[in-house]
Amino acid sequence: MTGSAWPPELSKEHEQHVLDHAADWALAHGLVLRPLDASTTSAIHAPYSLFPSPFPRHLFEEAKRLQPLYNDLYARITADDAFLEQVVGGAVSKVDEFQGRLYEIWKQVKKEGIKQPLALGLFRSDYLIHAPEGTSPDQYEIKQVEFNTISSSFGALSSRVTELHRYLGASGVYPAHPSLTTSALPPNAALSGLAAGLAAAHTAYGKNEAVVLMVTQDNERNVFDQRPLEYELIEKHGIRLLRIPFSQLRTTLSLDPSTHALLYTPPSPVASLPSPLEISLVYYRTAYAPTDYYTPAEWDTRLLIERSKAIKCPSVGMQLAGAKKVQEVLASHPEALERFVRAEKGRDELRRTFTELYPMDDSELGKEALRKAYEESGRFVLKPQREGGGNNIYRGDIPPFLDRLAEEDKRRGIEEQKGAEARGEGVEAQPRGREGYILMSLIEPPKGMEQVLVKAGEDKGRRADVVSELGIYGVVLLRENIDDATAPPEVLVNETVGHLLRTKGRESDEGGVAVGFSVIDSPMLT
Ligand code: ADP
Ligand code: MG
Ligand code: MG
Repeated sequence: MTGSAWPPELSKEHEQHVLDHAADWALAHGLVLRPLDASTTSAIHAPYSLFPSPFPRHLFEEAKRLQPLYNDLYARITADDAFLEQVVGGAVSKVDEFQGRLYEIWKQVKKEGIKQPLALGLFRSDYLIHAPEGTSPDQYEIKQVEFNTISSSFGALSSRVTELHRYLGASGVYPAHPSLTTSALPPNAALSGLAAGLAAAHTAYGKNEAVVLMVTQDNERNVFDQRPLEYELIEKHGIRLLRIPFSQLRTTLSLDPSTHALLYTPPSPVASLPSPLEISLVYYRTAYAPTDYYTPAEWDTRLLIERSKAIKCPSVGMQLAGAKKVQEVLASHPEALERFVRAEKGRDELRRTFTELYPMDDSELGKEALRKAYEESGRFVLKPQREGGGNNIYRGDIPPFLDRLAEEDKRRGIEEQKGAEARGEGVEAQPRGREGYILMSLIEPPKGMEQVLVKAGEDKGRRADVVSELGIYGVVLLRENIDDATAPPEVLVNETVGHLLRTKGRESDEGGVAVGFSVIDSPMLT
């Protein structure tokens, strides 16, 4: 080992020693995934970093301190019908079919009258450190990548990676290092905190014998990030959770016509359970991407659930609040943030985490953004209203992509419509394709960060130049005011429960663990 380099330079034998201990610990503690062949009787360890990654303590603390503000902000957005109507109901719902369908469900359920004013948010606010060329470490800032309101994953596995790194330090498997102290590896209660959120919502529903429903994707490989929530709920809270794929709900869910209770009828009766079962809370670990709705039946299921009096995590309104368009409006329209955050200090603190965010519409700002997207494309990422990774357009790919969208607009006759609308000929022009996107300046993470990335099946770790993304988990339980759509919600729970650090090779623009770009890491506070 040489000096205080991080991660420490180890002999081949020593690195193998660390790799072996890490893999055994991971397999022994459920830091695992299902293998690609989806066998149900074996597992492989999840991708992780061999060492924790240095992260400035004050920036980690700042991200945690901001979480209650972000929780409250997104609770308020969820409950603000007029705002969602304006921001999502505009161009976004018209050019983006997926957002449009969610928006239609939201409108319909609002019109019918919501049967459940409570909604649960298990949020994750994601940040990168912004360290532009020429700044010194004390000038680094955290900038928000995005705010997730649906299916925020890796709470369980990230709690495990924190424990893995602590074990490797405490057991002396790592070499001694001045930075590697117990207080440098912050505890991570994401798993227990998220489970406590589910329990709080179930309890607020007020019916002990009801069960929580976790809705999953078919052939989910990330099952061992999900099951621990079920185990926590039953072991610590005495609450049952059923984990059922979205596709199996077509035929098994129904509504009680008089009470609007959501009922689940198991395909074959389980002797120890009543049938049907009343569902207290629907927790989605799917339903965020168009491909999650395998057939039109999944859209029917979504509507049925929204109409019920079960609590949703998230409600469709809360999912819409997480649209990237909302993030853009909060940053580009000062009055939007003022609407939700009364205290100027709070607004300033939130704003410090915003990057440059622009609409791609016909406003002055939108025109300015279009010019930047062509002339300064190297500074930007273009994002559609999508979740789950792998959807963004980066740098030099932006101009040709916008060209293609413009050609598509031409084919659809948008330019003529815009002209006729401008001449007052009573034509309502459809929005241009690019209005479904936002333009965001690229955050520039610190250079010179190294890590050993470990994936199952590779016999050694891969040393790489890396970038780390910090996520902070937040829990919110809110009650909308059904009688007054302009009133802010009552926030019954507002907690900051843990964190996730994901680390990827610097060469990769995207950062999803599930899509194979990154590994789960833990911060070593400096
Ligand atoms: P998704 O909802 O699909 O996760 P994100 O907004 O998180 O979408 O973008 C995916 C990834 O792209 C992020 O994890 C990050 O690695 C990268 N990314 C997104 N926005 C930026 C940005 N402004 N600067 C640098 N990298 C970004
Ligand atoms: Mg996301
Ligand atoms: Mg993301």
